[in-house]
Amino acid sequence: MASQEIEALSAALARLPGLGPRSARRAVLWLVKRRETALVQLLKTLEEVQARLIECDVCGNVDTTNPCGVCTDQRRDARSLCVVEDVADLWALDRAKLFTGRYHVLGGRLSALEGIRPEDLSIGKLLERVEAGGIDEVVLAMNATLEGQTTAHYIAERLEGLPVRITQLAHGLPVGGELDYLDEGTLAQALRARRPVG
Ligand SMILES: [Zn+2]
Repeated sequence: MASQEIEALSAALARLPGLGPRSARRAVLWLVKRRETALVQLLKTLEEVQARLIECDVCGNVDTTNPCGVCTDQRRDARSLCVVEDVADLWALDRAKLFTGRYHVLGGRLSALEGIRPEDLSIGKLLERVEAGGIDEVVLAMNATLEGQTTAHYIAERLEGLPVRITQLAHGLPVGGELDYLDEGTLAQALRARRPVG
């Protein structure tokens, strides 16, 4: 029987996406055995992240500066804007160095089932960014799920009439495919073969 503290840690870890109670207990045991190395290191990193992470007011990315490193990087092409559902999608595209423009994080996807409406997402801010000018292309990089595609359609409609080219990721994406889970080759292919909306 584990102590209360260890049970509490296991329960906390089990709430993380992708971890269940069983893997959480294994992670705890692994940490307990490496108290001085891995556990101390993890604690330090968590503290740093907690103290320094901040959401970018411009794009919604999470970074240690606001505006974030992506928004302030002058080597990036400010005329090209890639719209993603979540920060994880931005990171996936950026890890692969596939897109050299800037991003806009919606903070989710439209969902009738979960009651997520346009005003719950960062769509108004996206329109403001585009209306402010200086952007030639908006790439809709939603997940290949029904909700992702509904969201892309909705945004394309809202952007209609604004002087930007609207493209979306190619249909090479597996149906139901979430960007964060795709390998870089598939992601690169979908981005290269992006096509105009409509
Ligand atoms: Zn940013």
